[in-house]
Amino acid sequence: MSRNLELFERGKKSIPGGVNSPVRAFGSVGGTPRFVKKANGPYFWDADDKQYIDYIGSWGPAILGHAHPEVVAAVQKAAEGGLSFGAPTEVEIDIAEEICKLVPSIEQVRLVSSGTEATMSAIRLARGFTKRDAIIKFEGCYHGHSDSLLVKAGSGLLTFGNPSSGGVPADFTRHTLVLEYNNVEQLQRTFDEIGHTIACVILEPIAGNMNLIKPSEAFVKALRALTEQHGTVLIYDEVMTGFRVALGCAQSLHGIKPDLTTLGKVVGGGMPLAAFGGRADIMACIAPLGNVYQAGTLSGNPVAVAAGLTTLKLIQQPDFHAELSRRTARLVEGIVAAARELGVTLCGDSVGGMFGLYFCEEIPSTFAEVTASDRERFNRFFHAMLAESVYLAPSAYEAGFVSIAHSDEIIEQSIAAARRALATL
Ligand SMILES: *Cc1c(COP(=O)(O)O)cnc(C)c1O
Repeated sequence: MSRNLELFERGKKSIPGGVNSPVRAFGSVGGTPRFVKKANGPYFWDADDKQYIDYIGSWGPAILGHAHPEVVAAVQKAAEGGLSFGAPTEVEIDIAEEICKLVPSIEQVRLVSSGTEATMSAIRLARGFTKRDAIIKFEGCYHGHSDSLLVKAGSGLLTFGNPSSGGVPADFTRHTLVLEYNNVEQLQRTFDEIGHTIACVILEPIAGNMNLIKPSEAFVKALRALTEQHGTVLIYDEVMTGFRVALGCAQSLHGIKPDLTTLGKVVGGGMPLAAFGGRADIMACIAPLGNVYQAGTLSGNPVAVAAGLTTLKLIQQPDFHAELSRRTARLVEGIVAAARELGVTLCGDSVGGMFGLYFCEEIPSTFAEVTASDRERFNRFFHAMLAESVYLAPSAYEAGFVSIAHSDEIIEQSIAAARRALATL
């Protein structure tokens, strides 16, 4: 019996579903999750000591590849000086200054420990600042698992959302309006009618939690114009896109200055660190300056900050993102070309070190279009790639991630593996 299966069976006895985050259980693709024993550069090894080329990279943080020696050294050094103090440190200022430098819309920033915490706090802050309750999110965008964000669309345009998870009171989602991504007309109509009641709009500026979906230029422009017009706070949730699609995040690609930005994943370099920040006048509403409460025992943890700060320094090497983008685009182009030769319906897209593969005719632009792709075919492709030692996200609705440790040679190996996998479909 595979050691992975053995661990999965054992894990299920003490951990619900055997995993600490649901997608890891392979529920969508079926089969046995791979238990990671260790990881290095572009690879990880499972419990059977089988080596895989990893295209998840911890869902984004591992932009330098796993266990980058400088990041590991910084973490070790920090750990020797104490793990957590519950008092301020100089390195927290160092990383705050670095974030403000790289993302000019962020005038002030606060550190937290997870993306969920960052978005939840940013929304509370937007509500405190505007003294309004209602918020807008978009179908298919994920902003962590806080109550008011686990919501699906109501039945009509201006009907507020319904909980999408057990344990969330309908009352908690009563203030969350769910609109369609890339639907400018719907956004415009909503703002015309109730814009003055909306505290904030939160979005993934390039969506990566419904596979990869890019916003149209019209959508991006309308969002900034309408929120500005109505005194609504525009929140770019860059937990996934931050420092991954470009050094200046997705907002630098859009030429947009959001009011607040949330960061996570890459900013922590693989450690539990996230952040939210933006306009100084809005940030001034947070305790201890203002009356919007937010706090955390491990916020700005020195070991996590060491990993994050070292990662932020290393991704500023010349041409880092240009090179990462080139390799990611080559991966997608190679796989799509192989599919075309084999007569398999597949298209793909990428931005920076993030990519999407879709088993449908055209690159999707909404959640409805993504969910119309051939999921059963993706699942067969996923398992064929796994047999080829290439680890993709175990769901047709997740983006993929490339690191700078994925050399040209590894990209070509992956394309060759995909060609063989696609031939089995
Ligand atoms: C991952 C993610 C989150 C949640 O971050 P956690 O650290 O998992 O809580 C929020 N928003 C986006 C866009 C994400 O990709």
